[in-house]
Amino acid sequence: MAEAQLIDGQALATALRSRVADAVAMLTARHGVTPGLAAVLVGDDPASRIYVRNKQRACAAAGIGSFEHELPGDASEAEVLGLIGTLRGDERVDGIIVQLPLPRQIDPRRVIDAVGPDKDVDGFHPLNIGRLWIGEPTVVPCTAEGCMMLIRSVRRDLAGSSAVVVGRSSVVGRPLAALLLDADCTVTLAHSKTRGLPALCRRADLLIAAAGRPLLVKASWIKPGATVIDVGINRVPIGGTVRLVGDVDTAAAMQVAGAITPVPGGVGPMTIACLLRNAVLAACRRRGLPDPEALAALPPVMEPPPPDGCCAR
Ligand code: NDP
Repeated sequence: MAEAQLIDGQALATALRSRVADAVAMLTARHGVTPGLAAVLVGDDPASRIYVRNKQRACAAAGIGSFEHELPGDASEAEVLGLIGTLRGDERVDGIIVQLPLPRQIDPRRVIDAVGPDKDVDGFHPLNIGRLWIGEPTVVPCTAEGCMMLIRSVRRDLAGSSAVVVGRSSVVGRPLAALLLDADCTVTLAHSKTRGLPALCRRADLLIAAAGRPLLVKASWIKPGATVIDVGINRVPIGGTVRLVGDVDTAAAMQVAGAITPVPGGVGPMTIACLLRNAVLAACRRRGLPDPEALAALPPVMEPPPPDGCCAR
């Protein structure tokens, strides 16, 4: 059997970011609007700091205004809620992201509620989650949306497909299950208590691994020709250095799957690109403007590379 097609998340994300930049330029020229994204970082977790910095850079490259707010790790919940209240009232700010995890003394649920549905570009607010599950237009959580775009880049018609999502977090697994259901897939949401996971996965036309367990999914768990999306980002010490590995044993899975995302370079870049997209959509929706055409959720279909020895014309 031929090796699986590698789904190039980096290329797809670059294309989406360029469409976001086009939409921002159009909004500024036609309506005098520059979308703005505010990031709130509480404490000094190094990984969170890197995420926030990457988001800031991505905003700048797309022409989106970015406002960073840092609070000390011992900030009270009232202080965080106070800052969010100020950002909600700030007309320059269309989206508010609060970098998770938060220190213990702060209840993330109250913080997400405080952001409100209109500036919730993460898609974590209960109202937006509810809209997602009843199939209404809403803000879709970035990683889940990114996964759908990656799937659709290689498979347009998903109706009737059997989809297994391994992982039921509210950030990835649950919203992705809702989106797959909306695309007429038959969805199974698996988790750590699921029995017979390998056999379940083997029935999947679409297999999405979002468990945060390095190399959990083996080649023998994959149905021949399946589309495999590896959301996992695991830092694993290998040979004296720390390497990033996904939840799927990619090298072995390549021999069985039809298409597969690599780690890194698969889902990760799409998450930030989808966040930028959400910020621009929020800017439009808050002002009653239509969603820019450039930001339609369907990406172009990626053709598989020509077989070896075949030259492109
Ligand atoms: P969580 O820890 O919140 O959730 C993990 C889920 O996986 C839980 O539902 C858990 O089940 C399930 N699970 C854990 N172990 C197993 C197992 N052995 N078999 C079956 N299910 C299992 O993680 P997140 O959803 O936040 O993240 C998942 C992974 O995706 C992580 O590696 C994270 O780094 C990565 N990630 C990547 C992003 C990207 O942009 N590429 C963005 C967000 C996350 P239970 O509910 O029973 O505990």
